[in-house]
Amino acid sequence: MATLQNFIDGAPAPAEGELEPVLNPATGEELARAANSTAEDVDRAVRAARRAFAGWSQTTPAERARALLALAQIVEDNGDELARSEALNAGKPLAAVQSDEIPVVADNLRFFAGAARCLEGRAAGEYMHGYTSFTRREAVGVIAQITPWNYPLMMAVWKIGPALAAGNTVVLKPAETTPVTTVRLAELAAETLPAGVLNVVTGRGEPTGEALIGHPELDMVSLTGSVETGKHIARTAADSLKRVHLELGGKAPVVVFDDVSLESALAKIAGTGYYNAGQDCTAATRVLAAAGVYDDVVSGLAEQANGLVMGDTLAPETTLGPVNSAHQRERVTGFLARKPERAEVVTGGHVPDRPGFYVEPTVVAGLEQGDEMIQREIFGPVITVQRFSDEEQAIAWANSTRYGLASSVWTRDVARALRVSNALRFGCVWINDHIPLVSEMPHGGLKESGYGKDLSIYSLEDYTVVKHVMASLQ
Ligand code: NAD
Repeated sequence: MATLQNFIDGAPAPAEGELEPVLNPATGEELARAANSTAEDVDRAVRAARRAFAGWSQTTPAERARALLALAQIVEDNGDELARSEALNAGKPLAAVQSDEIPVVADNLRFFAGAARCLEGRAAGEYMHGYTSFTRREAVGVIAQITPWNYPLMMAVWKIGPALAAGNTVVLKPAETTPVTTVRLAELAAETLPAGVLNVVTGRGEPTGEALIGHPELDMVSLTGSVETGKHIARTAADSLKRVHLELGGKAPVVVFDDVSLESALAKIAGTGYYNAGQDCTAATRVLAAAGVYDDVVSGLAEQANGLVMGDTLAPETTLGPVNSAHQRERVTGFLARKPERAEVVTGGHVPDRPGFYVEPTVVAGLEQGDEMIQREIFGPVITVQRFSDEEQAIAWANSTRYGLASSVWTRDVARALRVSNALRFGCVWINDHIPLVSEMPHGGLKESGYGKDLSIYSLEDYTVVKHVMASLQ
């Protein structure tokens, strides 16, 4: 059984905290062990990052770009191993990690390598007689980055890519259930990054995460996770006015009008709603269907759900893996158990009789706007369908949750597509699709989905501070 170690100052570092089992969610069996790192472990990592900041922040953009390009190549060269570890630890179908995640992770790193060389201050000129001014974008400093368990490797890269490109140094804490690929990434990255630039500490939110976010030597905290943890981090960071960057999930509405080509639309909606067992902050799981297509949408999604193949995550035919933990399965089934009587489970709704943390792909109809399953993120393979009467009602329902991350509108009417996409209060609106992401475009939310952007040049800017330099010409 592998014992994972922290990675601090360019080398594996045994943690003082107690070891805990890391499970394979597809079987419930132990896959590895990782420490619940203590405040002392965290302190060592933060100090290493602080020491490394002096050198890394002074490298040229070209030097940082070379390191990130090399890391992208290393990820590709070790893609099979990383994909297998991710499949086993996060409960994902291996084929999906190989085709959808490893190439994207490498592309993300290559984008940030290029972006490192494009950062610029906007103004340079004489804004007062006798003075020249210019602005600089500089690294923020030492950054704590905390990742979730749904895309452990990809979220690690979305965080370290812009942070390192901008010249910051990092202490990264993966989720306690999914540390395997993050620890491996740090080991592999040591081939190209100077010691201390990227440090990884494993452990739970308490004590490890708490020790990290409260550390006085940090300049910024970045989280992808739940709204509750995000609010807690923002409150803690307020004591020392640390910068905060938060991606806190969503409850994506999928607004389907009655002029769409239903067959291909439903294949895409179910494909993205059940992708990663619905554990995706942008998952297409809150469908709003026009009255004219409502019945067909409900039955079509049920048909799609029934076509999924649940099973061994290493088998090529598997299209639906388990949820990430017993705890997450209880969370998902809890929503189903509490649903109002008027709601109908059209298909699924059960825990299958097999090892691991599987939940059947499920469609629920008959819910109302105020119901818990409409308002809260389920984060499992559960799609809800509501019937709307007109565009105004669709927009009002789509917008009335506390989240604002992602959304989609499905119609062949161009004017309506643009009208509705303008009215949707989300960080992203897709038209006639759901979920595709590109390195060049920002990903991030409004409202309680948090603030700060991942991907794109905007994320690079989020990991910098703006400095004005004003020189007297006398
Ligand atoms: P969580 O917010 O507790 O965990 C996310 C990360 O934050 C983990 O690394 C965790 O160890 C860390 N963390 C937790 N408490 C912390 C603390 N006090 N200080 C510092 N770090 C801390 O999320 P969860 O409980 O694992 O999942 C609950 C729900 O959150 C999910 O069902 C889902 O709705 C949502 N979620 C969203 C995303 C996303 O992609 N935005 C990812 C995971 C979970």
